Amino acid sequence: MAGVTKLKGGRVYDPQHGVNGDVRDVYFCDGLIVAPPSAGTIVNEIDVTGLVVMAGAIDIHSHIAGGNVNTARLITPELRGQHLFNMPAPKVGKWSTRDTGRRYAKMGYTTVIEPAVLPSNALHAHLELADIPIIDTAGLAVLGSDDFLLRLLRNKRGQSAVDDYVAWTLHATRCLGLKVINAGGASAFKFNARSLQLDEEVPFYGVSSRAILNALQRAVCRLGVPHPLHVHCNNLGLPGNVKTTLDTIKAADGLPMHLTHIQFNSYGDEGTRGVCSGAARVAEAINANTHITADVGQVLFGQTVTISGDVMRQFNARSVASPKKSVIADIECEGGGGVLPYSYQPKNFVNTLQWAIGLELFLLVDDPWRIFFTTDSPNGAPFTRYPELIRLLMDANYRDATLATLNPEAAEMTLLKEIKREYSLYDLAITTRAAPAKLMGLPDRGHLGIGAIADIAVYTPNDDYATMFADATWLFKNGEVIVKNGEVLAEPSGQMLSLNPIASSGIENELQAYFADYFTMSLDNIKVNPRMLGSDACPRGETMFERRTP
Ligand SMILES: [Zn+2]
Repeated sequence: MAGVTKLKGGRVYDPQHGVNGDVRDVYFCDGLIVAPPSAGTIVNEIDVTGLVVMAGAIDIHSHIAGGNVNTARLITPELRGQHLFNMPAPKVGKWSTRDTGRRYAKMGYTTVIEPAVLPSNALHAHLELADIPIIDTAGLAVLGSDDFLLRLLRNKRGQSAVDDYVAWTLHATRCLGLKVINAGGASAFKFNARSLQLDEEVPFYGVSSRAILNALQRAVCRLGVPHPLHVHCNNLGLPGNVKTTLDTIKAADGLPMHLTHIQFNSYGDEGTRGVCSGAARVAEAINANTHITADVGQVLFGQTVTISGDVMRQFNARSVASPKKSVIADIECEGGGGVLPYSYQPKNFVNTLQWAIGLELFLLVDDPWRIFFTTDSPNGAPFTRYPELIRLLMDANYRDATLATLNPEAAEMTLLKEIKREYSLYDLAITTRAAPAKLMGLPDRGHLGIGAIADIAVYTPNDDYATMFADATWLFKNGEVIVKNGEVLAEPSGQMLSLNPIASSGIENELQAYFADYFTMSLDNIKVNPRMLGSDACPRGETMFERRTP
């Protein structure tokens, strides 16, 4: 074995293998983690004694590419991305794909999932993902408000037709999983509905939101897609929506389901202001239902821009846009999108409550393997604020001190002041590494076992966890040094992560005819091929992952 690098003497956190801060050496060669080699074959030794060593971090839900992201760029030129990067605005230009890759790498992230790829935007989303350096990326395809699916359901074509359509979509869009946003909501919006309950029918199709959810969830399970259906629940942002969330958990009927940014769906409607935390009820339901996973969508204070396929929600919220502007869009026959800037204020009652609800969820869900670290970037806060969120989870004194500066009426209502739990480094390694890899079906990462890709982040311990996790001391991507002492030294291309091809089905002919009749674009515009990405000489690299046996 030649060319082995030895990371010597670090405190290793590798939950997949039960390693909790043990002092160990880690070896890698040709981009992979390897067993300790025989003497004399180590060509490079890096002393990380006293430093913390983890696998590269994985973000399962961050909006970094595609139509809505670019609409956000378009309508907020004056912000120039400072709301995304929490930094002074550059004199010229806006935040770029290059910044996205560099800033994730600085924090020790090596894989990021773009969670809202509308099939008609898939090629654009992948082109943009391919333009982000360093990190590996994947997309989740969005179905659920598309006319084709709703027709399949209305015409009672059966579950196998839905399975075929989902399989075709995942393969054509080269996505790693499937997402549904307020199931049927963007379609109902086009018929002037301004809310949609779980058991309400989408106008024209006579199909309930629940039926759409169930059909997509079954398809994902039957096709063996590792990542459970990624569900953005109905009634996002509305007081009392905790009931919808609990009903959605029941609707999963024992099958795996992932609930995304549940902070925005954990609101009760009690109290003098008619809104309160529903986090304890949601956490209790997650604790009791082991087939349910969730990511939080934590809110942090400051300027951001909210971008969502939940066009109904965005339309209803447009009066609170800050600065006052918004874009509400229908996209082909598929869905919609809404973009509006927003500023979370620490003295605002509702914003303080949102902040507290997110943290309650993190701390009241017992199993760190089933609650995931997200801000729904940039919706709750841009991903560059993650170090601050890590400190809030790991340092109860800091959390209490921050709470004391917020809106007192909301602070009085939250359970947070009674919760003393602090995340350990091991918990953090679970929720940002090991659990995301397991949830997304990516066995080659999120851990430091032999054969894993050598995506490794090294941090210098600091009592201020925000400082500790803002800048990796070392980051290796596929064994290459990317970051040293917080400085980005190299910007290689990342890989596109997809599922192994799902057998093509007879549904393509039907889709061809349907697209010719109803779409402005042809079906071929949806199909993504890695050769379309990158350059002719150097097409986008693709790593395909196995499906589970259904
Ligand atoms: Zn999102």
